[in-house]
Amino acid sequence: METSFDIIIIGAGPGGYIAAIRAAQLGYRTAIVERYPTLGGTCTNVGCIPSKVLLDATEHLHAARSKFGKMGISIPEVSLDFGKLMAHKMEVVRQNTAGLSYLMKKNQVFVIHGTASFLNNEQIIVQAPGSDDTIYRARYFIIATGSKPAVLPGMVPDKQRIITSTEVLSLEEQPRSLAIIGGGVIGVEMASVYARMGTEVTILEYADRIIPGMDAELGKALFRHLSAQGIRILTRHAVKKIENTGALASIGFINERKEEAELTVDYCLIATGRRPNTDRLGLEHTSVRLDEKGRIRTDETLRTDASNIYAIGDVIAGPMLAHKAEEDGIFAVETLHGLSPELHYDRIPSVVYTWPEVASVGFTEEELQQKGVSYRKGKFPFAASGRARAALDTEGFVKILSDDRYGEILGVHIFGARAADMIAQGVMAMQFEITDTELGNISFAHPSFSEAIKDAARSASGKGALNI
Ligand code: FAD
Ligand code: NAD
Repeated sequence: METSFDIIIIGAGPGGYIAAIRAAQLGYRTAIVERYPTLGGTCTNVGCIPSKVLLDATEHLHAARSKFGKMGISIPEVSLDFGKLMAHKMEVVRQNTAGLSYLMKKNQVFVIHGTASFLNNEQIIVQAPGSDDTIYRARYFIIATGSKPAVLPGMVPDKQRIITSTEVLSLEEQPRSLAIIGGGVIGVEMASVYARMGTEVTILEYADRIIPGMDAELGKALFRHLSAQGIRILTRHAVKKIENTGALASIGFINERKEEAELTVDYCLIATGRRPNTDRLGLEHTSVRLDEKGRIRTDETLRTDASNIYAIGDVIAGPMLAHKAEEDGIFAVETLHGLSPELHYDRIPSVVYTWPEVASVGFTEEELQQKGVSYRKGKFPFAASGRARAALDTEGFVKILSDDRYGEILGVHIFGARAADMIAQGVMAMQFEITDTELGNISFAHPSFSEAIKDAARSASGKGALNI
């Protein structure tokens, strides 16, 4: 059996598998080690993909109940078979993980199943149940071990009543009530899924707004929308303790008036962020070092303190997003190959897959104000879009922030249907440094949701929107 490779990648999430494919394309003898039976990491198995299956399906359910009647479509009784939905989710995950196994074979990437731990800078030992431990050697290693839910004091998931994103995606029954600690991305996405099914959902968020990392106008719009859907959102609420009382979960928190209070629900989802996964990696046997936040420390080329070991994705600094991990993977491989790839974290888009969706790239208005940058702002509401009216998706807006002097686009923020796909146009505009005027001069198909981008750009440039 082959135990010596040019590059060994540890972790088969989107960072790892994309790095493996790129390394194989460049002619390296590549192996990837994954401790779980399937490839794809958090994203494919217990993250992006299964959550989007549940989001898409429940949005159809919601649309059938709330929109179809207005369009003249009547369905006598719309109901949800929870078990079938979960089976459908598992099948989509299976298709994706099988697709990754195929891609590894196609690219001749050697897949090793087991848990990897460094013996030194050049060797790892892989342990797998039922097999002998095997030592592998490589010229280069890429650590792509991802992240896991952060556990805060007093809030330890027991995976029964007190759960993380992994369990909430695979419940065996539809909860009557669900409390979600954290109004960040996971919090609002899972709140949408379960509220649409009819579960009573309460979000408890420490900050004064939900999705606090994104532009404040987006958070406000989403707050109004989710509240109107019946989700109870309690901001400025700090959760201190969660207990499993047997058939229920009990949550102790300090409310916005600084009083102690309690809430009892069927399940409590902890969604208070994720932490880098460096457990049992044997890094103490290498020259790799961590930063002050427990992430693997790298330089700007994603090289760690060991010159032959790179690190990518959630385990290092930067946004914890699948497409960021992928960009890191390509960048690390091309860098060690001697190419000069580029990596721009400021042009990585963020999307929240509620409906309407929330999508952002670049600076928020608050960031520009804090930096003292003078900017101009163009905003266009979907209520004025013919395509959005046709689809009964008129909620939301596109906001474009551009440099006051030259019109360079500094930020694009969208709350609206199909925002996840539209944001790519903002990323492209920023990547190629086109101005708001130039963006507003491009022809956009009519009628389309994207026309809102053209009008927002025209409005930012001072030319004036055409449809409002
Ligand atoms: P991971 O995907 O975490 O993969 C790391 C892999 O390394 C795992 O398979 C793990 O088993 C393996 N591993 C760890 N240690 C070892 C070891 N010692 N030996 C062998 N293998 C090891 N991001 C988006 O961009 N869009 C989304 O819609 C989105 N939705 C999400 C929804 C949820 C519920 C969650 C939890 C996350 C979501 N994310 C989303 C974030 C996304 O999943 C992560 O940013 C992404 O998976 C990070 O990729 P990665 O390759 O760095 O690590
Ligand atoms: P997050 O950082 O997005 O949100 C965590 C929230 O919890 C914050 O708003 C924080 O203020 C709040 N919080 C922290 N401690 C609290 C307490 N004691 N009481 C009440 N609130 C508290 O983290 P997340 O939602 O867990 O997501 C983790 C990561 O996964 C994110 O980095 C995200 O990028 C990624 N993710 C991405 C997507 C996507 O791209 N659509 C979807 C899901 C997850």
